[in-house]
Amino acid sequence: MAHLLVHGAGLAGLTTAMLLTRDGHRVTVLERDPAQPPPIEHAATAWGGWQRRGVNQFHLPHYMLPRWWALIGTHLPEVAEPLVAAGALRINSLAALPEKRRGPLCASDARFDTVTARRPVLEAVLAGAAEAAGVCVRRGVAVTGLTTDDRPNVPHVTGVLTAGGGTVSADLVVDCGGRRSALGAWLSAAGARPPAEQREDSGFVYYARHFRSRSGGMPTVLTNFLHNYESVSVLTLPADNDTWSVVLTTSGRDRALRPLRDPDRWSAVLARYPFAAHWAGGEPISGIDVMAGVEDRYRRLVVDGRPVATGVVAVGDACACTNPSLGRGASMALIHGILLRDLLRETDPWDRDTFARRFDEATTQAIEPLYRATLWHDRHRLAELDADAAGRPYRTTDPRWRAGAALFAASLADPELTRAYTALASFIATPDEVFATPGLLDRACTLGAGADRYPLPGPSRSDLLDTLA
Ligand SMILES: Cc1cc2nc3c(=O)[nH]c(=O)nc-3n(C[C@H](O)[C@H](O)[C@H](O)COP(=O)(O)OP(=O)(O)OC[C@H]3O[C@@H](n4cnc5c(N)ncnc54)[C@H](O)[C@@H]3O)c2cc1C
Repeated sequence: MAHLLVHGAGLAGLTTAMLLTRDGHRVTVLERDPAQPPPIEHAATAWGGWQRRGVNQFHLPHYMLPRWWALIGTHLPEVAEPLVAAGALRINSLAALPEKRRGPLCASDARFDTVTARRPVLEAVLAGAAEAAGVCVRRGVAVTGLTTDDRPNVPHVTGVLTAGGGTVSADLVVDCGGRRSALGAWLSAAGARPPAEQREDSGFVYYARHFRSRSGGMPTVLTNFLHNYESVSVLTLPADNDTWSVVLTTSGRDRALRPLRDPDRWSAVLARYPFAAHWAGGEPISGIDVMAGVEDRYRRLVVDGRPVATGVVAVGDACACTNPSLGRGASMALIHGILLRDLLRETDPWDRDTFARRFDEATTQAIEPLYRATLWHDRHRLAELDADAAGRPYRTTDPRWRAGAALFAASLADPELTRAYTALASFIATPDEVFATPGLLDRACTLGAGADRYPLPGPSRSDLLDTLA
């Protein structure tokens, strides 16, 4: 079995390391953040007691989608019990909706189950599970570059350089360094051709706040967790130990909405949305956390049919990261880690060129379409928000975007369509799968055709601006 070196102990690094250790590989994880150990025995305290400067979004809202939970159940079942023991919330994304919207439940609706927690709590549990699985995590060790052999043109990565001048060698380096991974610069310093990279600012800005219940329990769920309105999307995300978060998302170009960073104005705006206002009823446990400049980036290490280097792969955000409104990052990272594990079952990492090509092929087949579909959604939604800010209607000839909007509007009055829409939002079905049900697309388009673009009640843009004034 191989010695695999994972760089980064975030969600991708920890889950990938566990998957590989379960298969008998020797896995070492190097994490730059200080050696302060995660509060494994008391994961629920991680919210206030664990600092992780290496992860910008550490204290920002996270929700684990049913797709993530299904993958955990199949591939890392040992994570489930400690997660629940740490107070993570068991929730069913469909059952949580009002009965008149979703209709009666049936046995197959268990596919909407998930277990979710605030990011620090989730990560502390994963860190504990990784330790219990025998993964060696060395915290406080920053990777600063790659060691390579002397092959001309296509360097072969033999390990990493660490701050302080050390080296750690490995049969394969797995970059789980997240959205700010420096892999491109390290490869170039090693004499490799640059990876193929597409990147741009996703264009969104988030104004997020966490709450804790004053009396126990969770706010009543009145609609799906992501609700779209004129100029604003609202995310209402349940979490562990009677906590939750609310995010107001807008276009980063919408300067008029920037006062949302002020807690009083943020609260006044939230109060205008009847399906979300009651989520402000808890005790705030954070200020308004603002995040902008979130990049979409996709990176390939095979360019023009040839690997730029061998002995190294990128997994999770280090390969593909997007604007997080759809909450898919952890699921995509886990899918990606599973791909790597499966490839290692059939292809030797010492078969350098073949391994690099096959991992790229598997990533292109399984991860790139998820990345592109997320970008497709985000580009439309951002254009819609920008059109709202400019006071003009958003027009698109893309029938799929129109079908998606019609599906949500129609789902408000049709339980089968609610199931279909919630399956998309849960990341357990693709639009092609959902719309393959005979008659479903026609019904969505007929029922949803006359509906307002933003069918849930909320302020118009001018009301919104008045509220912020
Ligand atoms: C605002 C926001 C909200 C999000 N919400 C959700 C959500 O609701 N649901 C969801 O599924 N996903 C969400 N995501 C995405 C999710 O956070 C990531 O997809 C997920 O964490 C996987 O990331 P990762 O492990 O690849 O990277 P990260 O979690 O960023 O981890 C990278 C790790 O690498 C370490 N590292 C970096 N450089 C070095 C180095 N040189 N040496 C050693 N270590 C290094 C870092 O310290 C860090 O620990 C959100 C993202 C953002 C930005």
